[in-house]
Amino acid sequence: MIKDLWYKNAVVYCLSVETFMDSNGDGCGDFEGLTRRLDYLHGLGVTTVWLMPFQASPGKDDGYDVADYYNVDPRFGTLGDFVEFTHAAQQRGMRVLIDLVVNHTSDQHPWFKDARKGPESKYHDWYVWADQKPKNADEGMVFPGVQKSTWTYDEVARRWYFHRFYKFQPDLNTANPLVQAEILKIMGFWTQLGVSGFRMDAVPFVIATKGEKVVKSKPQYDMLREFRELLQWRRGDAIILGEANVQPKTNMEYFGDEGERLHMMFNFPVNQNLFYALASGDTAPLAKALAETRPRPSTSQWGMFLRNHDELDLGRLKPAQRQKVFDAFGPEKDMQLYDRGIRRRLAPMLGNDRRRLELAYSLMLTLPGTPVLRYGDEIGMGDNLKLPERNCARTPMQWSDEPHGGFTQSKRPVMPVIGGGAYGFEHLNVAAQRRDPDSLLNWMERALRMRREIPEVSWGDFEVLDHSQPGVLAMRYDWRNNSVLFVHNLLADPIEFELPRQKLGPDGKQLINLLTEAHSQVDGRGRHRILLEPYGYRWFRVGGLDYLLKRSEA
Ligand code: MG
Repeated sequence: MIKDLWYKNAVVYCLSVETFMDSNGDGCGDFEGLTRRLDYLHGLGVTTVWLMPFQASPGKDDGYDVADYYNVDPRFGTLGDFVEFTHAAQQRGMRVLIDLVVNHTSDQHPWFKDARKGPESKYHDWYVWADQKPKNADEGMVFPGVQKSTWTYDEVARRWYFHRFYKFQPDLNTANPLVQAEILKIMGFWTQLGVSGFRMDAVPFVIATKGEKVVKSKPQYDMLREFRELLQWRRGDAIILGEANVQPKTNMEYFGDEGERLHMMFNFPVNQNLFYALASGDTAPLAKALAETRPRPSTSQWGMFLRNHDELDLGRLKPAQRQKVFDAFGPEKDMQLYDRGIRRRLAPMLGNDRRRLELAYSLMLTLPGTPVLRYGDEIGMGDNLKLPERNCARTPMQWSDEPHGGFTQSKRPVMPVIGGGAYGFEHLNVAAQRRDPDSLLNWMERALRMRREIPEVSWGDFEVLDHSQPGVLAMRYDWRNNSVLFVHNLLADPIEFELPRQKLGPDGKQLINLLTEAHSQVDGRGRHRILLEPYGYRWFRVGGLDYLLKRSEA
């Protein structure tokens, strides 16, 4: 039954337990605090919570350096607290995805500690070693400018080990069948505790061939099929959402021709070109990225996002385009990161301009895929550029105007809450925005509710409509005899947008506005003439409001 594909029309919300809500006053967010805030997320319209890593970890890379895959870091609670959380989510009809970080472990993981003893250790071959410093040891860093190499000498093992990320994150030898079996065991464990799937970290690196002799690594795509098969046996509706910032031409390798590999992937090409469109007002490259990422199996789905917990990676834009985004959204050196991206949160990037924030979210919600929100962006939280690297956009959630934004009773929060200035918790917080009917939070709640009622975006076919105004993106979706139309003005000027009714199918005489009373009728020459304010957007249903009837007949 195709309607069982719950992830197609989900609203995903990404958060870090560490910085969301502290229940016990130790300054660190925890599962009990998060569980108490589930009704907030439910009310906002979130259907799926994606948790960043919460497993036991030295925390040198925000939990992406796991030291025990089968435990909750004691700072966040216990496995018992975790199960209470997944149960509470289930009670509200919500699902939980968790990060699966298996490209590498922490160097403090017992496997690596044992592996360092040398080839006689049963875990030695779980990692990637070389006797001599490999020739390409200074290439392929994930964090250029911060990370110095990809091979490091280990004094105990007296061998070099491979690490695609920081040197405290040794790569697992994912070609080793024992490692693969362990990855399946980890997935089986957490599904048993109530999760609906995994956001798989760094997929291209997980499936890459690794080793000193590897000049150009080859992806082992079949590994993805094996991961998926286990999931389907253990829990039929569990999914893998892959982080794979790859060329569009390889997308089908990740999804699988029959959709037998990853269920979902983040759409990085659209993300980067969306920011270019927001910066330049030119929608043509975004339309091209949409066309290039269109092919996918019918059961597969894109994750659409604006900002995430990493830097905004612009590595796939042309240099001149990238410069334009830097100039518009991150002109200062300390706003940029790793020579390829911007580390700020969305609201400061857009100058805290409400019109532009709504435009950006409206675009994200109406592009073909499942929207993935980042905690705090629903209230327009800011960043703290004094914090190193990506931490600037990982500050605690701002709940109220109480000390430390109501995040913790402790005087020492795990990360400083943003205070003072335009983005300070004193006035930018959930409690204040709840009371204000015109707040971004309440706008978001209404937008998410309406988005959930437009399954055409998740399930339908889309067409980017041809017209003569490059500053306007007009898209039509068709599904089960119904059509919707979204129009976005990327420019700072008002614009009169014209669309002949022929572009809208047989019901195109009338457009029902889904957000306001401003509907549209064709004029005497058979055209819709829509006056868009600066950064204006429209969500229309094509034809009358009898679509629910038509849908049930389809
Ligand atoms: Mg705590």
